[in-house]
Amino acid sequence: MPKIKKPSQVHWRTGQFCEHGRECLYRRAITPRVRLESRLALVLVAAIFSMFAISDYYYLGPTREFDLLVTLRAVVVSSCLVLAFAIGRWGSYASKVWLHALPLWVLSTGIILIVPLRPETLSTQVVAVVVAIMAFYLLIPNLLTVVTVASLYLSIGFLTAAIVTAEISPVVALRMALLLIMTNIVGFFALLRIESLQRIQFGLIHEERHRNRQLLKEVAHRKMLEAQLRGLAERDALTGLNNRGHFMKWAHELLQRSRVEGAPFSLFMLDVDHFKAINDTWGHSHGDWALSEIARVCQQSVRPQDVVGRFGGEEFIVALPNTRLDDARIVAERLRKKVAELMLRDEMCDLNLSVTIGIAEAHAEETELEPLIKRADKVLYVGKNEGRNRVVVCCEGIEER
Ligand code: GH3
Ligand code: MG
Ligand code: MG
Repeated sequence: MPKIKKPSQVHWRTGQFCEHGRECLYRRAITPRVRLESRLALVLVAAIFSMFAISDYYYLGPTREFDLLVTLRAVVVSSCLVLAFAIGRWGSYASKVWLHALPLWVLSTGIILIVPLRPETLSTQVVAVVVAIMAFYLLIPNLLTVVTVASLYLSIGFLTAAIVTAEISPVVALRMALLLIMTNIVGFFALLRIESLQRIQFGLIHEERHRNRQLLKEVAHRKMLEAQLRGLAERDALTGLNNRGHFMKWAHELLQRSRVEGAPFSLFMLDVDHFKAINDTWGHSHGDWALSEIARVCQQSVRPQDVVGRFGGEEFIVALPNTRLDDARIVAERLRKKVAELMLRDEMCDLNLSVTIGIAEAHAEETELEPLIKRADKVLYVGKNEGRNRVVVCCEGIEER
């Protein structure tokens, strides 16, 4: 079976992500930091490289070699500064790796060219080359492959220049070669470790973010399901109004609150007149349609703070907090008229759709809904007996009947 690489797997030799897309993502993510660090490093390197002009003058005095050396240093330093600017401006670490590599090649060439101009200070230069190699690996941000090639160029170029122009003995050349190899090995493995660790950390953070996003999606989905379930549990399927259970819970809370606040609280019971005849004449589907139209009118005729519910069958119930009996009667009358004026289906044109509404107001000490509903129901049936299509208010005479 072929071995499947994990997306965040890091290559053991280059320290880069095996997956190209992830490597690009990583480099894009660190580009701002790399730009800043490269600029700082290059300004620092340029400053150190130019400072060596003082020692050049001390050793060479105002000679032709000194002029050449100063020119060389000026070229390298200005190139470094220009490159620092260019990297800061255009140095995408994902697409312009060559731009980040250029300073290493310029610096390496500058260091190699110093050897023929000052062969007598070779020992100092060896130290400088070792420091430069370590700076390549650890100071100036670059890919491990880029740094390795540039460091090998510097090491081989420097060694060749030393052998050709400084006439060093084979033993000294060998010791220099060993020193440079050692420096490269140390630098290589140090950077390999850093590159790998940074990418592993990046991969872990990414994975965690991905998991968090998944989790948030899952939570949102569950919340949606919960809302749907709650809707199913609280709503009447035909009319979309609160079902009886939910209405009772909600209206009870409103009643309790109005008792605490000492505010009035009224309640309607509404029953569709001769509804059975609608079913019998036009069928249940027309009956259902009429019920949902009446439910819509109920909802539209009350204030947002009022609660409407389907009490059962063709009976509706409305709780009106902060409403006295007289105001409740006005609302009920408006509702009754709207039902009577409802635009019916063509085939139902000879139907006189109407409702009878019974209204009751809670007594000052009354904290339970049931007695209030009973009183409203009682007056509703008074209205039925009196001929239907009317609003009846519960007053003392009726209450005692
Ligand atoms: P009244 O004026 O005295 O209230 O007469 P009514 O015909 O409205 O009252 P009755 O209680 O005799 O009949 C109510 C009818 O409502 C009987 C029942 O089949 C019908 N009904 C109850 N729920 C639904 C429903 O969800 N859809 C339909 N289409 N009919 C329903
Ligand atoms: Mg009824
Ligand atoms: Mg009825």
